[in-house]
Amino acid sequence: MRTVPTTLTLLSLAFLNSFARGEISVRTDFEGASAKVVSIGHAPRTVRITPGGDPARGWPCWWYLRIDGLAKGDTLTLEVVPLDAPLVGPGKNRGKPLAAGWCQPARAAVSHDGKKWQQTEPGRAREGVMSYKVQAHGESLWLAWGPPFTPKDSAELVESLAKKCRGSEAFELCQSNGGRPCPALRLVSERPSERRPGVWIQARQHAWESGSSWVCRGAAEWLASDDRRAAALREKAEITIVPIMDIDSTATGNGGKECLPQDHNRDWTDRPHHAEVAAAQKHLRQWADEKRLALFVDLHNPGPGDMQPFFYCCPDSSLTEAGRTNLDRFLTLCRGEMNGPLALADKPRTSGPAYDPLWRQMSKNWVAAHAPPHAVAVTLESAWNTPDSTTDGYRRLGEQLGQAIAKFLREDVRK
Ligand SMILES: [Zn+2]
Repeated sequence: MRTVPTTLTLLSLAFLNSFARGEISVRTDFEGASAKVVSIGHAPRTVRITPGGDPARGWPCWWYLRIDGLAKGDTLTLEVVPLDAPLVGPGKNRGKPLAAGWCQPARAAVSHDGKKWQQTEPGRAREGVMSYKVQAHGESLWLAWGPPFTPKDSAELVESLAKKCRGSEAFELCQSNGGRPCPALRLVSERPSERRPGVWIQARQHAWESGSSWVCRGAAEWLASDDRRAAALREKAEITIVPIMDIDSTATGNGGKECLPQDHNRDWTDRPHHAEVAAAQKHLRQWADEKRLALFVDLHNPGPGDMQPFFYCCPDSSLTEAGRTNLDRFLTLCRGEMNGPLALADKPRTSGPAYDPLWRQMSKNWVAAHAPPHAVAVTLESAWNTPDSTTDGYRRLGEQLGQAIAKFLREDVRK
């Protein structure tokens, strides 16, 4: 008879203890946030979540939440389990739940102020659950799949760079289907010239791939900088940068990839569903008609097992000789510049008919089919599951991309 009261006493003490320290709670009522709470434990402090995205709006791999009610020095364990709902969008994964690796990075992103992001220590995977241990610096902790970059961040980035860089402008690419503005940046020197080669850089056709926006940010910051190589490039080229393409899924914390009715990167047809794709196509067609579209770079994040950035190129058979020469030169320059911490893989890959029957509806393949023969169109996949996949690591990779572009356009590529 003594065991029961003792257990009860211990439980009561645990309850009183947690009450004295305050209850922890989870918030997801802000831009880009996403999580479904499975359970909360107060002693020890543990929160178990699953990604909160709707599978109809893309792969449920993204999660981003704030935990309140902590005290400085508290240790919290965040446990992430995959959503068990089957995927419903187009693609070969339809009908199956998304594999756990997509929502369980080796290291999560953590912030103590909601602004500056670092990586956690490596998580521990056991029986399908990934656990990340973090220590609170104050009453709140922000945790995410990777460093978040939201539509608000995109607007602030393009506006601040436009203010700093003479002759450039922030503009609205379009209103998304959900009625949200899609921020973009045009970098060009004040000296007018109609025949400038056009460079188009875009990120985040897949909303969960937040790292691609950080690479884009690094590229934009360098291309808009006072560095003489960047200034010289702006004298001779016109550069458009779109840090987030799928504005709606990013704002609502959905994954975006293979969303209904159409993945953003399979939407590059004559009748696109997504407003951002239609608007980008309009600008790119105009450059193509003026024979000045020179370079198109689409920024993505790859699979959990890809530990180095790499390029996807158009199938060799679709390239002209001038296009192949320029592509080889661009890749060589990128290999020279992208030397770490996220070092470019030696070999590019190809996304053609063997990769996806809808390969022609992928951005770079559509661009290549509509651009002048000398143009280069590529996808850069930036590894996200490494210790260097941080805001600094991604930005450095973007800066190196900018430097490779500056070298590429030092010569006239329109031959
Ligand atoms: Zn992608």
